[in-house]
Amino acid sequence: MIELKLARTDDGRPEIFRSVQGEGPMSGRARTFVRFSGCNLHCVWCDTAYTWNWRGGAFAHVRDRPGAPHTFDPAAEMAKLSVAETAALVRACGAEALVITGGEPLLQSEGVAALIDALGAPHVEIETNGTIAPSPALVARVALFVVSPKLPHAGNGALAIRPEALAAFATLENAVFKIVVRESSDLQTVAALAQNYAIAPDRIWIMPEGVDAETLAARGAALIDAVIAAGWNYTGRLHIALFGARRGV
Ligand code: SF4
Repeated sequence: MIELKLARTDDGRPEIFRSVQGEGPMSGRARTFVRFSGCNLHCVWCDTAYTWNWRGGAFAHVRDRPGAPHTFDPAAEMAKLSVAETAALVRACGAEALVITGGEPLLQSEGVAALIDALGAPHVEIETNGTIAPSPALVARVALFVVSPKLPHAGNGALAIRPEALAAFATLENAVFKIVVRESSDLQTVAALAQNYAIAPDRIWIMPEGVDAETLAARGAALIDAVIAAGWNYTGRLHIALFGARRGV
């Protein structure tokens, strides 16, 4: 039996919730979110480090403090549910339009496909870091892949870009790219990625990095002219403006 590893909210429930999409091309659309636990990257500014940055690990994080690393207990943070249990929680929220997110959900590709099947093939969007090529089963089931390759400022080194996986997404008509940017110089890296993988400008969304409204506004203002000039799209983080940096929203 497939066991799904999901994140938990602050009160311990599996992180399955109804909200509006806050980022990217579907920003503002009502969606049900399922947050999977586990990630194969370790971004220093990750806002869901409770899905992967386990106690005793060696990864640095911008929220580390002396004597208080920004790390988590997997026994407390990870919920293990069957596909049927997960599907029931999704149905209780509304299962017609779903966002599968993480962590890195494609680490559990087989389970994700089984969940979609258990729900009767609703409209599904997957958010991924683009390091794992989508399986044929997922390509056949998913309406939109939102792919977020990580730039050097995320601190993953060579792990961040897996050329074969990124090339696989680039060839999918239903894949767009949401790229987290800190400063204007990062946009040169975005332009190089777009050229190397033949990604048209209108498939790219630039999103400022930040977990508070002030930082996002300042970074966005510094980026927007260059984003428009390049023909890319821009996205803020609507959920931060509406709810703040919280789980389950
Ligand atoms: S890829 Fe996403 S979930 Fe994984 S560490 Fe980076 S920001 Fe966090």
